[in-house]
Amino acid sequence: MLIDLHSHLEGRVRPSTAAELAAAGGVPEPAGGWEQAIRLTGPADLTVYLAKVASTYPFFRSAESARRIAREAVEDAAAAGLDYLELRFGPATHADDPRGIDAVIAAVAEGMREASRATGMPSGAVVAALRHHDRDTNLAVARAAARFAGSGVVGFDLAGDELLFPELAPHRDAFGIARAAGLGITCHAAEAAPGAAAREAAELLGATRIGHGAHIVDDPDVLAWAADSGIVVEVCPTSNWYTGAIAAVAEHPAPVFRDAGVRLALGDDNPMQTGTDLRDERAVLVGVLGFTPADLAALDRVSLDSAFLEPGTRRDLQSRHQR
Ligand SMILES: [Zn+2]
Repeated sequence: MLIDLHSHLEGRVRPSTAAELAAAGGVPEPAGGWEQAIRLTGPADLTVYLAKVASTYPFFRSAESARRIAREAVEDAAAAGLDYLELRFGPATHADDPRGIDAVIAAVAEGMREASRATGMPSGAVVAALRHHDRDTNLAVARAAARFAGSGVVGFDLAGDELLFPELAPHRDAFGIARAAGLGITCHAAEAAPGAAAREAAELLGATRIGHGAHIVDDPDVLAWAADSGIVVEVCPTSNWYTGAIAAVAEHPAPVFRDAGVRLALGDDNPMQTGTDLRDERAVLVGVLGFTPADLAALDRVSLDSAFLEPGTRRDLQSRHQR
């Protein structure tokens, strides 16, 4: 079963689409072309990695382009055989005011809906607040996400540079709005900051899932808390290698989480940058990190249980999985 719970829309822009949209919209072609601007050829550092993702940002300024990118992202995932895709994006990066935030979310939700209808693969949008945005901006993002709850948006996230902006308290009210609207809560945490950040994200923001969480394994108390609390860690091994967070994919902490009894889900984070998809990430878990068929079955169960799905869609996927 292929359930992708950690994937960024901005990391799913096809280079060919970028080239077409750039030509039509007057965005200057980068030296070396769009393929080179978007894709990494191997492991790099976080700055280089994020610059590749950010090269696609101009295309989200047009609602029509954002809708196309979202539609193609879901089509690509369906073509790759995925059973469900949760797609996250930071609308305030692509807008100048609250109305613009709504417009980006509406366009992305519409593109995803079109592709899910056409392919039969369910998908859900996760709206991300960003760490470097101020409290008021993230409150506006949360209110906009809340307005789209039940209309394509299923979850709320916090993304961005955790080293420069480690504080979670400024975003507490935004997460309160998202929770009150019934959105699922995830948070990029303990990716660059110490493991305690994951626990804080759960306790302060109400996160039931943690993006990456790699540093949880450095702290035995937090690792024990993660296992006991039932929090789900969304692991993305190749991405962590490509950002330089780990020196080799074999050093990814997924086996430590597994052995400690932490619930795991899988994501491909930014597949256009890393050139991998969910199937590749699964192959890494098995071939490099020693996951057994039973481990993958456990991961599938956790992914199904913790996806921010409507109950009906969850039952559909469950019954398809059991056949
Ligand atoms: Zn991420």
